This record gives sequence, structure tokens and C-alpha cells, in this order.
Amino acid sequence: MGIEEQIRRGDGLLMVDVQNDFCPGGKLPIKGGDEVVPVLNKWIQASLVKHIPIYASRDWHPVRHLSFKDEGGKWPVHCVEDTEGAAFHPELIMPEHVIKITKGVRFDKDQNSAFDETGLASQLKKDGIERLFIGGLALDVCVLATVMDAREEGFKVKLILEATRAVTPDGGEEAVNRMKESGAEII
Ligand SMILES: [Zn+2]
Repeated sequence: MGIEEQIRRGDGLLMVDVQNDFCPGGKLPIKGGDEVVPVLNKWIQASLVKHIPIYASRDWHPVRHLSFKDEGGKWPVHCVEDTEGAAFHPELIMPEHVIKITKGVRFDKDQNSAFDETGLASQLKKDGIERLFIGGLALDVCVLATVMDAREEGFKVKLILEATRAVTPDGGEEAVNRMKESGAEII
């Protein structure tokens, strides 16, 4: 079935952290991270045709963010605000009306989920969204956290497996299992 036949009014496309630093050549590269871009572009084009709202989250850290290794966190420095690494992948189609969700900006905690104190759930409800198609990076970190919160907030979720990549294969497998248990569908 084509993408356009799968989406309808009440759906939203949510792309998680498709940013340079998470792609090969970036500061926290995920294997095959850039391979999600052409897949997501097809979903974006179909969403445009069907007038489905598009949401794109981005990790957007202050310098010396607490998630960085030097500050006692677990990750190398990545997605520092206003740097090239924090920019969306240049080949990702980004129509002007895409709603951007900026996260990871806090000094006191990291925000893996696009829903974590961003107000996204309110915006989606305001936009009449009932079901989310989700893809992006990384499957076992921010995509996982986002899918779990989406379920918690009562949204139906379809994870586009071809449009995501994991930091580790084991982590990816576990993430998919947890998503399924939460009631998300894997497509
Ligand atoms: Zn981060």
C-alpha cells in the first residue's frame, strides 16, 4: 500500500531528531542515520499531498549541557544550539509550516522525548491529531522515549521502522519490543 493510502485526516507525521550530529560525519553518529532521510522525504511528500501536519523535533543543547561526558553525562558533545551539527539534515524536506519542537535546552535535565515538558501533546490535541506516524533518530533513545510518551498521552502510534536507526542493534530490538508492548504498531 502506498503512503498516501495509509494516512488520513487526524494523522500527524512526527520526525525525531533528524540532525547532522546523529548522521555519519556528525558528533554522535548513528550507523545509517542518514538513510532515514529519503524514507522520511516520501512520508513528508505524502503528508503534504494529504494535508497531514508535520512535526519535527530537534535536540538543541546549551554548551556544557549535563548530558555531555565532560559534564558527567553519557554522550559526547552533540547538537549544540546554533551549530551546523544541530541543524536538520540538509536533504530532509522541511516545508515552512513544519512545526518544530526544540528539546534538550534545559540546564537541569535531559529531554529525550519530544513530549517531555515541551507542550507537544497540547499542540497535537489542538491540531486534532489522533494518530502519529513516527520515525527518526535514534530508535533506542529519543524515538523510544517519544513513542512511549505518545502512547501515554493517548495517541495511536505507528512506528515507521524503515525511517529509524538504532545506536546499537540490541538496543533497537529491545526498543521495538517495548513499543509493541505499549500498543504501538510497527510498520
Ligand atoms: Zn542530546
